[in-house]
Amino acid sequence: MKVFKFGGASLKSADAIKNMATIVRHNAQAELVVVVSAMGKTTNSLEELLSKYRKGESSSLDLLKKYHLDICDSLFQDKNLITIKLEGLFSDLLTNLSQTGLAYDQHYDQVICYGELLSSQIVSDYLIEAGLNISLVDSRKFVITDDNYRNGYVDWDETKKRITHLRLDLTEGIVLTQGFIGGTKDGHTTTLGREGSDYTAAIYSFCLDAESMTVWKDVPGILNADPKRIKEAELFHEIAYKEASEMTYYGASVIHPKTIKPLANKNIPLFVRSFDHPERAGTIIHDCEVTLPTPSIIIKENQCLVSFNVLDYTFINEENLSLIFKELAVLDIKINIMQNSAISFSVVVDYREDKLEEMINVLKEHFDIKYNTGLELITIKNYRPDTIVQYRSGKNILLEQTSRNNYRALYVV
Ligand code: ASP
Ligand code: MG
Repeated sequence: MKVFKFGGASLKSADAIKNMATIVRHNAQAELVVVVSAMGKTTNSLEELLSKYRKGESSSLDLLKKYHLDICDSLFQDKNLITIKLEGLFSDLLTNLSQTGLAYDQHYDQVICYGELLSSQIVSDYLIEAGLNISLVDSRKFVITDDNYRNGYVDWDETKKRITHLRLDLTEGIVLTQGFIGGTKDGHTTTLGREGSDYTAAIYSFCLDAESMTVWKDVPGILNADPKRIKEAELFHEIAYKEASEMTYYGASVIHPKTIKPLANKNIPLFVRSFDHPERAGTIIHDCEVTLPTPSIIIKENQCLVSFNVLDYTFINEENLSLIFKELAVLDIKINIMQNSAISFSVVVDYREDKLEEMINVLKEHFDIKYNTGLELITIKNYRPDTIVQYRSGKNILLEQTSRNNYRALYVV
């Protein structure tokens, strides 16, 4: 039994979906779960729509509708049935968009899920028309999470119980489902965090004891740097779970950070392969040891440096640190790197204005808080001295740390 995941880029046009169908058809003999994301940049468009609705600005669904219907034009001979189904989804989306009274994160999930709902409906109907045996399954009823909207925590017992029921469907055909979205036990839609479809595929792999999971991407596999930023990026043929998991922690965007753990726990290999060159092997992430690994260069964008300065002449100590950590935990803000001096403690976090404001409000009675935005955090894993020199030069560095294996620096963009 295998699990495939196709991301937005591999579904962004009718041609891309036809290519995806060819890859699926070649593997249709094996028991297969196929996880799909929203098409192209749909999730971003939905985020923009949501933000306009919440500000009370007028905006229409026409562009998003046209994008999906145009794709259907080239996929289906008779578009009637799929058009009726999509109209239904768009009308539900509109109803959900209008729920502006909901708290932001909850509202977000009720709206953003439509990217995956639309794409899975189109792909399912297309694969069926192409002669494949497909059962379309709603992940909101299988991936069960708590109600931590926008970053739902998986209830593994319940999820496992439900996904196990899919074994029967798998003997009859391919199970197709949405990535990224889940549901609470009482039926509210949640999401697993941006780019979370990889994690969804890992959840299905874990619960069904898959023999492997494959992520089909618009890159040849896992590279030692983002090829959009660094031209001479090199392909890794194999990577150990631990190494891959750390790369995602430092910000490598090729795989969602939560993906590796469920796979490593069951020793399920993860393949990252190119959908443009399905004949190539790509990268395998599994249990292995690589000697003298090539340095990886990982850059996290949109970082914010927050410095907490004590208000009197006391030093930074465990008591005031615990106030800071407690608030970070409450707001679910992750620290990407931290540093302290005698009277100040600094954390670097992904910049989210709303969360930052909330944190400052709560902690300003204890600290003088200053922050800088517009920063990037570079990590060089398995660095060599010359790699540090190369990436350090010419940068306005605000914070820097070197350990045995990693070099990290925060700089102004
Ligand atoms: N569609 C979602 C996103 O763009 C999930 C995913 O692509 O993995 O973040
Ligand atoms: Mg994606």
